[in-house]
Amino acid sequence: MGDEVTWLVQPRLVNDPFSDPGLFIDFRFGRRALLFDLGELTPLSSRELLRLSHVFVSHTHMDHFAGFDRLLRVCLHRTTPLHLAGPAGFIDQVAHKLRAYTWNLLDEKSFDFILTATEFTEAGVERACEFRAREAFQRRELSAPPLPPGTLLDEAEFRIESVVLDHGTPCLAFAFQEKMRINVWREGLQSLGLPVGAWLNEAKRAVRRGAPDDSPVVVGEDRSVPLGLLKQHALRTTRGDKVVYVVDAAFHESNIARIVELARGADQLFIEAAFLEEDAQIAAARRHLTAAQAGTIARTAGVSRLVPFHFSGRYVGREDQLRQEAEAALRG
Ligand SMILES: [Zn+2]
Repeated sequence: MGDEVTWLVQPRLVNDPFSDPGLFIDFRFGRRALLFDLGELTPLSSRELLRLSHVFVSHTHMDHFAGFDRLLRVCLHRTTPLHLAGPAGFIDQVAHKLRAYTWNLLDEKSFDFILTATEFTEAGVERACEFRAREAFQRRELSAPPLPPGTLLDEAEFRIESVVLDHGTPCLAFAFQEKMRINVWREGLQSLGLPVGAWLNEAKRAVRRGAPDDSPVVVGEDRSVPLGLLKQHALRTTRGDKVVYVVDAAFHESNIARIVELARGADQLFIEAAFLEEDAQIAAARRHLTAAQAGTIARTAGVSRLVPFHFSGRYVGREDQLRQEAEAALRG
């Protein structure tokens, strides 16, 4: 009790489970958000879209990519870049989207909006390009960021991991992994006679980078405390949250192994449950998962919470059946 609530992100599905799949990952601080998949975005406000720094696209079937235009339209005049990532071939597809518009009014005096696109394959992030408004969105090659295979993005507080699944076409699944959760214990702060404040963020950063205990943390103008004292009395470190997103995958050995590996121990697994097990043949033909298969994978991976979604329209009105089937398989 008395701990400051310090959750880093809150994920939520963009649409109802029968509409386009997408997961909006909102940060508590920093006016920032991430998005897994870029289909229909109507429920998201322009303000929410403007918070997006990175959008990760599983594959470019329309229900996963048709929101590109609205996102571009909303972000076109902003000064911070928008980063997109997708499977092999993704950069060409982004370039084609951009080429569908006339940009004759753009020149070197235009607003400086930058769009980047990277491609993730089994070898990791292999290619990257950028498109600048000031260059009328001509494509410019970038060197791919040095990241280990399996990592799409690596920041101080979290990383995004990915695997390539088979959906008849490469389809990416994503994991948001918070690196370390640091809670502030208010009573502990009080016992040290310290106020709650923005200075705590610097203390947390110091813990994350593994700074030595005698490092001074500045509290106010003429006051600092050693990091070790804070760690001992006022900071509690726990494992960070893991949120995993899986759509459009055939139920076969190599896909199952990759999903289980990615989702192992996840706090939340958002996973497609497109069909009921009674329609497993249709699911197999379309390279989608059934609800029971999704639940089985979740059980094998030891996830805490399963959120089935991306339901086939044939089950409208039978949503509970899909959820029950997934939940039953999760419980085993
Ligand atoms: Zn789909």
